[in-house]
Amino acid sequence: MAKPLTATTWQNFKRLLSYAKPYKLGFIAALIGMLGYAAIDVYFLSKLQPLIDEGLEGANPDFMKWAPLFVVVAFIFRGLFHFVANYCLAWVGNHVVTDLKQHLFEHIMTMPVAFHDKESTGSLISKLTYDTEQVLNSVSKSILVIVQQSAFILGLIGLMFYISWQLSVIFLLITPLIAIIVSIVSKRFRKVSKSIQGAMGEVTTAAEQTFNGHKVVLTFGGQEKEFSRFEQINKNNRQQRMKLVATKASSVPVIQIIASFALAFVFYAVNTDSLRESISAGSFISVITYMTMLLRPLKMLTNVNSEFQKGMAACVSVFSVLDQDKEKDAGRKQLTKAQGKIAFKNVDFAYDYHTNNVEHKWALDNISFELNPGETLALVGRSGSGKSTASALLLRFYDASQGEVLIDDVNIEHYPLKDLRHQFAYVSQQVVLFNDTLANNIAYGNAKASREDIIAAAKSAHVMEFAQQMTQGLDTNIGENGALLSGGQRQRVAIARALLCDAPFLILDEATSALDTESERHIQDALQALQKNRTSIVIAHRLSTIENADKIIVMEQGKIVEQGNHQSLLDKKGAYAQLHRFQFES
Ligand code: ADP
Repeated sequence: MAKPLTATTWQNFKRLLSYAKPYKLGFIAALIGMLGYAAIDVYFLSKLQPLIDEGLEGANPDFMKWAPLFVVVAFIFRGLFHFVANYCLAWVGNHVVTDLKQHLFEHIMTMPVAFHDKESTGSLISKLTYDTEQVLNSVSKSILVIVQQSAFILGLIGLMFYISWQLSVIFLLITPLIAIIVSIVSKRFRKVSKSIQGAMGEVTTAAEQTFNGHKVVLTFGGQEKEFSRFEQINKNNRQQRMKLVATKASSVPVIQIIASFALAFVFYAVNTDSLRESISAGSFISVITYMTMLLRPLKMLTNVNSEFQKGMAACVSVFSVLDQDKEKDAGRKQLTKAQGKIAFKNVDFAYDYHTNNVEHKWALDNISFELNPGETLALVGRSGSGKSTASALLLRFYDASQGEVLIDDVNIEHYPLKDLRHQFAYVSQQVVLFNDTLANNIAYGNAKASREDIIAAAKSAHVMEFAQQMTQGLDTNIGENGALLSGGQRQRVAIARALLCDAPFLILDEATSALDTESERHIQDALQALQKNRTSIVIAHRLSTIENADKIIVMEQGKIVEQGNHQSLLDKKGAYAQLHRFQFES
């Protein structure tokens, strides 16, 4: 099991390095800084033996004369190398993370809608912020420690052998033991750190879901249930964190105790006659000092593995999103402005079509209809009958499982997605507004709109009525998700936005809740302006608004049960007539 895991870690690391490629020079400068830093330390320590044997013992008076200058100059260089190493590494790291974030953000935004249905916003945000930062912190810290401390260790070992190979051999005997412990500890660490990452996401997700559904929780008295659910997740999170701390805290003393055996053995060995003869005071003190000095970098190296694994776990989590296929966008037939014809030909669709379920649950079942330029189609039917699904297929949020959706007699899969979606204006019940001015919110779908265009759209959609009462008119900032606006006002902004993007098709998901009469009248007016000269599909919740539709389709469980216009359907005395009676009697 261990082998392939290491292989993928290595592959992932290489992939991460490919992000650093454009910043190669910075990385080389950082490497020089790290190696220079280690070299100065080793050089400094190599002077320990001559200091004792020549300087302090007085054999070479010149040595002590130059020593003060030497110390200061060495530290100046050490400081310079330290700065270069840290600065350049951070420079590269921050560039890499910025690129990674941008790449991830763009990738997430081009993922199929089905992906967003599955993933919670909380966990995506945690990947975009927490995981990418984790990669930066862990990996750059690891590289710094690995390069700098390994160079330092190698230098020290070289020095040790140069001074006394016998003592050094003893030291090397103890090294494999330490290495084994390191690998055990780091393996455990990798496992724990992975599950912690899972748990972190869970806290965010759990809290977000509950906060979003706050009113439902209150209404149904679910507080106690939510408290205990969150308590469980929170507790789990704490346990995971403590496991991480426990592993970390125990790894250090265990390794140090093992290392102390090496020291003990050295004392024992030096006391034998053959060694005592060949070693000077300076050499002995040097080797002992080097050995104790090795402990710290060794400890850092053992910790670095877990740090590195933490970074790589985050990296895997980011790459797992980047590796998922984007939306299929293979169409090559350009579409600037459609004439306005829509047709569904024997369309079947199941949300679970690509899973291995034997029995698919058909959200659309053999849907066929045609709509000519400028006509209005109303889809009616109970909630869950497939109305929104049909409109989602038009925008290719999902692709038909069987059958074809056509625009201007061409299968929509033949158009590039961008061209296709550009043909639609979409006004839904859930109006999405951005934390920006009214004018910019209206111009969201049309960056080229002039101020006059915006004002004209705002007038037709009856936005001007309330905009004028605001302190800065159309330039008033409407707060996060348009917090300053009422439901009816939000809808009018959405209609103005749709008007301005001037698309040949309109998809209109009507509001379910009744608005006050004033708002209602304005909105109906605005909608009429919007539907003019456009092929429209209206997902109707109230039949009163669709009596003039050219075509009405009544849906039930994904099937078309009736189609015709208002009068012909009433005459039929079927499903539509029944719905009509039901709505107007209640
Ligand atoms: P309507 O708009 O008429 O209320 P929908 O088109 O939203 O109906 O839903 C049709 C069917 O598809 C329902 O059974 C619904 O549960 C299911 N459905 C809708 N959206 C999804 C989705 N994202 N994933 C899986 N099933 C879905």
